[in-house]
This record gives sequence, C-alpha cells and structure tokens, in this order.
Amino acid sequence: MPDRLSVNTSKAKVVIIGAGVIGLGIAWRLAVRNASVVVFDRGAAGAGASHAAAGMLAACAEAEPSEEALVTLGRESQARWPAFAAELQQASGMDVELRPEGTLVVALTADDQERLLHQLAFAQKLGLPLGWISAAEARRREPHLAGKLSGAVFSPEDHQVDNRKLVAALRTAAEAAASGRAPRIIGKCCGTTTFPRCAQLCEISGRVSARDASAS
Ligand SMILES: Cc1cc2nc3c(=O)[nH]c(=O)nc-3n(C[C@H](O)[C@H](O)[C@H](O)COP(=O)(O)OP(=O)(O)OC[C@H]3O[C@@H](n4cnc5c(N)ncnc54)[C@H](O)[C@@H]3O)c2cc1C
Repeated sequence: MPDRLSVNTSKAKVVIIGAGVIGLGIAWRLAVRNASVVVFDRGAAGAGASHAAAGMLAACAEAEPSEEALVTLGRESQARWPAFAAELQQASGMDVELRPEGTLVVALTADDQERLLHQLAFAQKLGLPLGWISAAEARRREPHLAGKLSGAVFSPEDHQVDNRKLVAALRTAAEAAASGRAPRIIGKCCGTTTFPRCAQLCEISGRVSARDASAS
C-alpha cells in the first residue's frame, strides 16, 4: 500500500461539496499537497452541523455497546488531536482552544447515577480510563455545577475543542495553502450567477440531495 503522504496530488483537480469540518479538513490537506481544490456549499461555509456541535472529543464517555471499533478509531483520533491542533494553529494563525482538562458526565439523581454506573462498567471493561467521583469532587472540578448532585463520571482523556473556531481555522489554512491558485472556498454559491461554474456544480450537488431524499 503506498504511503499516504507520497501520493502525487499535484495535478489532481478536486471538487468538494460541503464546507463543514470534513470538507474543509480534506481541502486543507489536499491544498497542502498542491492539489487544485474547490469547495462548494449550498449555504454559508461552516454553518452546518460543524457550527451546531459542542466540540466534545469524547470517545471514552460516549462509548456504546456494539461500537467497539468506533471507540478504537475515536481513541486514535483523540491521540492525534494535540499535534493536529498545533499544526492547524501554525497554518492558520488561529487557536482552536483544545481544552485538555477532561470531561464530567454528571448524575443529578439516583436514577442518573444508576444509569451512568451501568455505562461506566461497560467502558471500564473496554479498558477506557473513566472513573466515578463524588459530588464534592465533581464540584471541586467544576464549581458552577448545580447544588443537588449525586456524583459524576470523570473522563480525564476526553477533551474539548471550539468547533466554530475549528471550522474558521480549517478554512483559513485551506485558503492559505491554496493561495495563488483559482478561487477555492465558496459559501452561499447556489442561486448566484457570479460563478457560472459554481452554479453548474450546485446543480450536481442538488441532484445528490434529490437522490438522497428519494431514497429515504
Ligand atoms: C447538535 C449537535 C451537536 C454535536 N456535538 C458534537 C460534539 O460535541 N462532538 C463531536 O465530535 N461531534 C458532534 N456533533 C457531530 C458533528 O457536528 C458532525 O459529525 C460534524 O460537524 C460533521 O461535519 P461535516 O463537515 O460532515 O458536516 P457539516 O458541518 O454539516 O457540513 C456539511 C456541509 O455540506 C453542505 N451541504 C450538504 N448537502 C449539500 C448539497 N447537496 N450541496 C451543497 N452543499 C451541501 C451543508 O450546507 C454543510 O455546510 C454534533 C452534531 C450536532 C448536530
């Protein structure tokens, strides 16, 4: 299998439909490798799920039965985050605010506690580094928690990023990597005659939407 980094992308012409964290992330990596990339979106760039998200990088606390392979992938992804955030900051000049202080999943009631302890037992069976802490310890870690508390799961390796800053940084990094070549990232492209080629591509993405809708 060829080394991913050695693939010659310098002559590739790539159109990406969707300027969220995924599309912009791919665009950045391709632009760095000298591919010619254009990203289109039916709305404003970065205004989809990537805007709505909470930025939790919670592979441990969100582990579910039958998703063991996903947990493994999520853990590998978590391990890459510090280097990724640093590289992105260097490329974009923007801090995506990776916060490494861990995650609390709070139990307000005895019922919450029972449910969380059940999930905790599953996660611990997978070897994930989560533990139960008292209400007092949870409040020590997060003084703004509500007064009535039963306890919490503490997940020291689940971190958080500012997802909106992440989108902005990816866009900036992709545009910086692509500078000097044709227009790259275009939000709000549908319905405008400013970019005739863009209108044509929006039609293509529109057909994809229509096909998805008729299949569901
Ligand atoms: C409320 C909420 C909270 C979340 N919280 C978390 C969290 O804490 N942690 C976490 O890891 N994940 C979270 N997620 C999931 C996370 O947001 C998504 O997995 C991630 O943003 C997906 O990125 P994306 O680029 O694929 O999608 P998006 O950011 O939605 O980008 C897709 C883009 O494609 C465009 N598009 C779609 N169809 C077309 C078309 N036919 N033509 C042109 N453009 C099109 C859209 O306008 C959109 O801008 C959350 C999601 C939601 C909704």
